[in-house]
Formats: sequence, structure tokens, C-alpha cells
Amino acid sequence: MILFLLFSPSVTSGSTCTTMRCEHFGCRKPSTSKIEAWIQKRGWTSNNPQASLILRQWKPVGTVDTALDSSFVRSMVTAQRWKGLTIKDVPEKGRGVFTKRRFEQGEVVCEYHGRLVSREEGLAIHASSPDMNPGHLLFYKNKRNEAMCIDAHEESCQCHPLSIIYGRLINHSSKRANIRPRLFIHNDRDVILFITLRDILVNEELRYDYGSKKKSFAGKGVELDWM
Ligand SMILES: [Zn+2]
Repeated sequence: MILFLLFSPSVTSGSTCTTMRCEHFGCRKPSTSKIEAWIQKRGWTSNNPQASLILRQWKPVGTVDTALDSSFVRSMVTAQRWKGLTIKDVPEKGRGVFTKRRFEQGEVVCEYHGRLVSREEGLAIHASSPDMNPGHLLFYKNKRNEAMCIDAHEESCQCHPLSIIYGRLINHSSKRANIRPRLFIHNDRDVILFITLRDILVNEELRYDYGSKKKSFAGKGVELDWM
């Protein structure tokens, strides 16, 4: 992900604008403190950009194919510390995931995180627990065209026992889906990230299409094989 931010560090003097290459943040809107820390790390001694200005001008740029090129997104995948989300009760649906801030179109929201198992194992888990929320298993095909499953029926994963696993609590909607899953590879691990389909306001519920049959998603070789 290459993100170009245009800003003028010295607007009042009218000097030439500086183009800042900000691939660090990529497809995920950073917080003000993140930007401030990043600016500080650069060690600039003059014409320092303002974090608030960068934040205002921030847009996910590029294509979703490059979402994981962002070191910021990779760090969140590693730590599973997704921000800007909250869990609320939804009438007749149990729980759902809501936004605590605005998300731009094309922004990474969170990962569908869980235990990687084979398709057969996933089907066996589903068969042994018929009351299971269908959102707690995600079937897909990996880049080698093998049918796989992410098992997220446990409330938390073994690798991040203290993290809230939001992906498993996102409800289904085919007509009102505002995010979509997309397969990436990170450190040889399949990573399924949810990416916004449009701008999402504060306090909107996130929904994706669980699908009931095979569905192809845009992008070469990416086919998620849904239940
Ligand atoms: Zn984990």
C-alpha cells in the first residue's frame, strides 16, 4: 500500500507543498497519537507536519490488493488490537460489531481471526454443534486452491487470549453488507481482512455477506468458498 498525503507544512508562508509518502499507515486510519509518534520518529527538525492535518487528509489510496503492504496493518494483524470497533446487542441477532469512528471506503476494519483448520474439520465442528452461529466458521480456498476453514467458535483464540475477536461477531447481510472479506498471506499465514465497501459512519453496524454458495471476489486467484 502506498499512500500519498499532500500537505503543506508551512501553509502560512505559501511555500511549496511537500509530498509525504506515508505507506506506513496504508489502508487503516491511524490515530492522532500514532501519527504524532511516527512524526517524532522521523526526527525532522523543522516544518514538522501537524498530526491533525495528516489525519484530516488521510484516505486509503491504492487497491485492496496492497492492504497488507502497510506496516501499520501488519502490526495490527500480529497483535490483534483492532481499534474503532465495539460490540453491542442487536435485537434478535445477539451481538453485533459497531463502529466507534468513521471508516473510509477501502479501509481495513479487522481480521476474521481464529484457528486454521481443513474444510473437513470445519464441517465436523459445524455438524457437532448445530446451534453454532454460522459467523463462527469461515470457509474459503487458499492460494493453493485448497478448501480451508477458519474456526472462530471459541470466544477468544489461543494466540491472543486477551484480544477481542471482532470478526466472529459481525452479522450477515447480503443486501446491506458494508464490508467484505479478502484473503491475504502474512508470514505464511492466511489472513482474511474485512475491507469497507463504502464510507461507514460512527455507530453503524458492520455486516458482510456470509454467502450461501460459492462466490468469487474481485482479484486474481482469490475465491472464498462459503458455506
Ligand atoms: Zn490469535
